[in-house]
Amino acid sequence: MIPLKSEKDLQMLSRSGKILAGVMKRVRKFVRAGITTADIDRYSEELILKEKAIPAFKGYKGFPASVCVSVNDEIVHGIPGARVILDGDIVSIDLGVNYQGYFSDAAVTLAIGRVQSDKKKLIEVTSQALDIGIKQCCVGNNLSDISHSIQNFVEGRGFQVVRQFVGHGIGQTLHEEPEIPNFGKPHLGPQLKSGMVLAIEPMVNMGSWEAQIAANGWTAVTCDGASSAHFEHTVAITDKGPVILTK
Ligand code: MG
Repeated sequence: MIPLKSEKDLQMLSRSGKILAGVMKRVRKFVRAGITTADIDRYSEELILKEKAIPAFKGYKGFPASVCVSVNDEIVHGIPGARVILDGDIVSIDLGVNYQGYFSDAAVTLAIGRVQSDKKKLIEVTSQALDIGIKQCCVGNNLSDISHSIQNFVEGRGFQVVRQFVGHGIGQTLHEEPEIPNFGKPHLGPQLKSGMVLAIEPMVNMGSWEAQIAANGWTAVTCDGASSAHFEHTVAITDKGPVILTK
């Protein structure tokens, strides 16, 4: 069953999302060449705590940090540490906030300094793929319409969608039903209803879609070493259309 949120739940999720959006805005400005990924973690955590919220990822299934920082060929779940951000890197920042028991989740990929044009295009296409997926978050559509629209758009631009990781429902837990793949045939799966809240998150690889887990047991990296990008928003489905809660 996909949980339907009450009016009160939606208000709380909206607050959670607003906090996350504010934190993300400041983190985006903070990330630059020369700092470490651990610096990004410390800064993000400080901002979340200042808002009287809790970093949703810290301790989740044992994840050791408040933010996932995934650089270049890292797809998702990068663990912050001593790695220094370099000019020309692309850096994915994935943040989760728990505000009074209500969760929100969002991600962006940033281009640091002079980035190769194909990497810039990867970022642009992944960001657009998120917008396209969100446009499908309408009452009466099927869940797989989101998946299909993302895959179709991404593959039409010469990139591939990651298969091993998917979007998800979100609310009073970080991950709820349903799973939302970024690939698949259209018009399948449950019908979307007003009150559903979904984290839509295309993960797009420049080369093959295949991913593997690094030796740290967490970080997903591309098998071919090519770059990957990730964008995510938490979206409420309403009778008036999709509402992005993390904007
Ligand atoms: Mg997510």
